[in-house]
Amino acid sequence: SPKPPIVSIVACLMPEMGIGFQGKLPWRLKQEMTYFRQVTTGTFTEGKQNAVIMGRKTWESIPPKYRPLPGRVNVVVSRQHPAELALDTSSSNPANKSSIWLSNSLTKCLELLPQQMPNLERIYVIGGGEIYAQSSNWCDYMLVTEIQHEDPAQKPTMDTFLNTSTIQDLFQRDDGLGNFVPPNVTLPEEPHIRENGYCYKFALYKRR
Ligand code: NDP
Repeated sequence: SPKPPIVSIVACLMPEMGIGFQGKLPWRLKQEMTYFRQVTTGTFTEGKQNAVIMGRKTWESIPPKYRPLPGRVNVVVSRQHPAELALDTSSSNPANKSSIWLSNSLTKCLELLPQQMPNLERIYVIGGGEIYAQSSNWCDYMLVTEIQHEDPAQKPTMDTFLNTSTIQDLFQRDDGLGNFVPPNVTLPEEPHIRENGYCYKFALYKRR
């Protein structure tokens, strides 16, 4: 079977590509969250599933009642985890036992996960800053929600950023978003969404 594509998915405030502040998202954008859930959960082929890979700090930023993210295989990377890739056997909820994997190596889990999951459709890299920075060499695509503040004077404080020059060097804009996202995703009719004083659009980048 062909290798599952590796896709990073990120929401960032342009132009400096800020993504976080004090362990959390700097904004609350409901339609952006819906897009993230629909894209990462949906598949083109029935019976397949996607995986979401995240750093330990991003995992901790998800409220416990919302994790693991349902309908997706969750992989949490931490240098403190005991194995290159192993199921999380500590979870008390039996529903979680098959859906949370732990890994002590980002590159190894990208390599090993397809061998463990024959029904894997796509691997989504979902953050945070450290994980985006280390995975840019491995990603085939990036799904970037490009956010602007309607009033630049009100810009939120941010402490975590993407590396803008790395992204410009490695990726180019692609206009095929409509065909790239799975069929359950409803893209907005208008190119820009306005919410909470922000204005944003969904973009696709492809490796050069
Ligand atoms: P990360 O979520 O990237 O997690 C970092 C941790 O991952 C490290 O401390 C380490 O865990 C582990 N790790 C890093 N590299 C490796 C590796 N190569 N192998 C194994 N484990 C590794 O933390 P950041 O602080 O960089 O990012 C979090 C911020 O990003 C938050 O503010 C969050 O809200 C934001 N965010 C924003 C998103 C967006 O789309 N805007 C999306 C996701 C997050 P350990 O210390 O346990 O060893």
